[in-house]
Formats: sequence, C-alpha cells, structure tokens
Amino acid sequence: IPVEPFDLVIFGGTGDLARRKILPGLFRRFLAGQMTPDSRIIGAARADLDAQGYRDMIRQGIAEFGGPESTDGDGLAQFLARLDYVSIDATGEAGWQQLSGLMRPGVIRAFYFSVAPALFGALAERLHQHGIADPDSRIVVEKPFGRDLDSARALNHTLAEHFREGQIYRIDHYLGKETVQNLMAVRFGNILFEPLWNHHYVDHIQITVAETVGVEGRGGYYDKSGAMRDMVQNHLMQLLCLIAMEPPSLFEAGAVRDEKLKVIRALKPIAAHHIVRGQYDSNGDGPSYREEADNPRSFTESFIALRAEIANWRWAGVPFYLRTGKKLRARHSEIAVVFKDLPHSIFEGDEKRHRNILSIRLQPNEGIDLQVTIKEPGPGGMRLIDRPLDMTFATALGEEAAEAPDAYERLIMDVIRGNQTLFMRGDEVEAAWAWTDPIIAGWERRNDVPKLYDPGTSGPDDSLMLLHREGRRWREIR
Ligand code: NAD
Repeated sequence: IPVEPFDLVIFGGTGDLARRKILPGLFRRFLAGQMTPDSRIIGAARADLDAQGYRDMIRQGIAEFGGPESTDGDGLAQFLARLDYVSIDATGEAGWQQLSGLMRPGVIRAFYFSVAPALFGALAERLHQHGIADPDSRIVVEKPFGRDLDSARALNHTLAEHFREGQIYRIDHYLGKETVQNLMAVRFGNILFEPLWNHHYVDHIQITVAETVGVEGRGGYYDKSGAMRDMVQNHLMQLLCLIAMEPPSLFEAGAVRDEKLKVIRALKPIAAHHIVRGQYDSNGDGPSYREEADNPRSFTESFIALRAEIANWRWAGVPFYLRTGKKLRARHSEIAVVFKDLPHSIFEGDEKRHRNILSIRLQPNEGIDLQVTIKEPGPGGMRLIDRPLDMTFATALGEEAAEAPDAYERLIMDVIRGNQTLFMRGDEVEAAWAWTDPIIAGWERRNDVPKLYDPGTSGPDDSLMLLHREGRRWREIR
C-alpha cells in the first residue's frame, strides 16, 4: 500500500548511514510501489554538490549496498529523479533559504537527522526559524541517543523546544526487524503461549546478540561507548521489553510504549557479580581490541553478559540473561524462553532433563522454533528425545519472507504513516539510561578491567560461569 506523498529531507544525506542504509532502503520501497512518484528525497549536507552530483553519489551507494534490486536500471533512473540536494550548514546560515524554497505545501514533511547528535539542537532551531517545519512534520533521530541519563535528558529537552513528542521518531532498528515484530505476533496472536509466560512456567530467558566483526573503522567512537552503551541500553533492552511487557490493550504506540516503560522501571539494580565484561584479544591473525581502537590502555568492553531481574508479579525470580559481543564465534542473534522442568515424569528410567524452549531467531535463518519432547522412534521402549518444531521464515513463507522490507525501510515508511509504535519514546530512553548509569559508574569507580577473550569463541569463561553457578547454561552460539 503506497504511503502518502512526502518530502523527506536527510540531514547528513552524504554520510555513511544515508548511503549504506537509508537511500538503498528507500529505493527498495520505491520499487515495491510504496513510495509514490510524487514523493521526494532531499539530501542536505555540507558537501558542495548539485542535485546531479548527489544522484551520482547515491547511484554508487545503491550499486554497492542496494542488493539484487540495484540492477533495475529503469527503476533506478526513476528513483534518482526523485532526489534533490541542498548544500547546508547546520550551525550556520548557508543553504537554509534554498531548502525552504524547495519544500512543497500539502505533502508530509519528514526530517531525518542523520548527523552527530551535537547538531540536533541547531537543526531543530533552524527548521523553525525558517518556517520549514510545520506542526505535522516528523523528525527522525538515530542512536546514540545520549551517553547517559543527563545527556539523553538534554537531547530530549532540546528536541522538545521545537517538536512535540508525537513528532519525534527515535530509531532503534532492532524494532524494525521482522522477527522482532513476529515475537509480538507469537505472544499476542496465539492463546498457547501467554498463559505460560510467567514465573510459574518460565525458568529463565536468554537474549544473545553475537557479532563476528570487531570495531574496525569505528574504534574511536566505540572506545568511548562500549557494549553496554552501544548495544544493551538500546537494542537488548528493547528486546527484553517486548518479551517481558504486559499485553497492551491495543497494538498502538501509546499502549505499547507504556507497557515497555513499566518493564524498564521494574528492572532491579544489578550486583557487580552478575555482570561480566570482556574485551577481545588478538589470537595471532587479527588485531586485538586495543589495537583496533588504537588505545593500548583501553578498559572498554567489547562483550558483556549480565543477569537481570524484573521486580513484578509476572517475573519475580526469573533471570533474564543478556549477552552481546564482537568477534564472537558466529553472527547469531536469538531470544530463548526456557520453560521449567516437568513437575513429575511418568517415564521410568528417563533421567534426562527435557525442556520446552521457544527460540526466536533474529539471525541467521530468521525464524521461530519450539523444542518439544517426543518418543524416540523404534522398539526401544519409551525413550524420549527433544526435537524442534522449526519454522524458518524463508522456507515456510518463501517469497513473502524474501520480499519483506528490512528494518530501516519499514521504519521510514512508519514515519511517513505517522505510526510511532516501533520507535522509542523519550521517557523510555531516559528510564533505560537510569538503569545503566549506576552500572557504568560502578566500573568507572572501580577501574574495572574487562576479561580478555579469544576471537571466535563465545566470550570470556566468566560469562559461562554466570549461568553454570545457577545450574544453567547458555545456548550455543553457532
Ligand atoms: P558520517 O560522518 O558518515 O556523515 C555525517 C554527515 O553529516 C555528512 O553528510 C556531513 O556532511 C554531515 N554534516 C556534518 N556536519 C554538518 C554540518 N555542520 N552541517 C550539515 N551537515 C553536516 O556519519 P554517519 O555514519 O552517516 O552517521 C550519522 C549519524 O547516525 C551519527 O549520529 C551516527 O552516530 C548515527 N548512526 C550511524 C550508523 C552507521 O551505520 N553509520 C549507525 C547508527 C547510527
């Protein structure tokens, strides 16, 4: 279904994010017929380019990052014709008159702030000064949304001076992932799971986001941030919220975000022994974290594992184990709901522990599987084995799955539609920082040194101990 005609201005339109994600994504939505031919995209950045120069740049970006569709020559030419460019200075006066002159009346206006957060205030102010933003305009901002509670509050405050909360779209691209939304479909679209979704039946929950890449070119930025700020405070926290929240009365922005906020606020403070920080070492053939970050004394974590608890009736006593890291064994993201043991087994001689596990795989092989216990085939009597009821979306849904828009595409279309359900609200972001701030402050106070781990493993051994000492184990990263 096409969205209404829009003018989308991308501040930072020549940047890495714009070339790699935003514009290739918009191109795919254009090919899918969702972006109508009367919509326009206006790049706005410092570089001194004209519209043609910008189109050439984006043509290259799409060739490099656009996937198989990028060979559609006619489609590409039509798409590029929808592009314009303004050379602009966020903190000065250059370009603003020109941008103002380009905006059309009667179409939706959206402004993507794909620039450093330090420029948000200047952009918001100038959009107003020049009458470019109207009361229905949307602005889109990216992570990092602050680096602690104070800076996040300051950013919220800056944006709030010129925009209502209902106009601000804070992107967490994890929320745009197909499987993450499927998590909600599974939870709230089936009667099967919700009755079991509590401390009576759930033993624990695991959330793993493992990457194989290191910090590479982003070392300078990452070294000031680390896995807690870069991944846990936003992405893993969002996944945890969707798993743990109470059923909202409606799948709608206000209701969903109210429930997520309650989860974050109910998180218990974490004791230091429930957190393991790691940093990848060199295993001979690749550089260590410290080499890549160009900081020989860095204490920044490239891996973190922690045990969180939610203090409410539904989840009392249920551990939520979260882990994420770089240079791990495989690119593997999964949420696993591990159910409790049977209260009693009627099968004599079957000593093994059988457990139902619902696993939601973000990657690879996006899909959902449910581990169930069945009888081992054959004449050996009642021997039990565990097997997955496996639904890999690519096989189960075929072309439909292949054609699903990626996270960025979907989220940008939601901005145009005015649907904030999959975006973070200001109070959510602040609550998440309020939970992570004391943890990070504790490390800084103690000069906490992360444990070294070898690339290609599942992180430091201490992370295995986090579960072992409670009689549990991580699911394999593979
Ligand atoms: P980048 O450095 O590649 O691009 C920065 C852009 O901002 C350029 O287009 C530049 O011209 C423009 N710019 C800088 N100063 C300006 C000014 N004074 N006036 C007007 N334009 C100005 O950055 P990026 O990697 O594209 O990231 C953009 C934002 O998105 C950052 O806040 C970053 O943290 C965030 N982000 C990036 C990624 C990514 O994968 N690159 C992922 C998540 C979030």
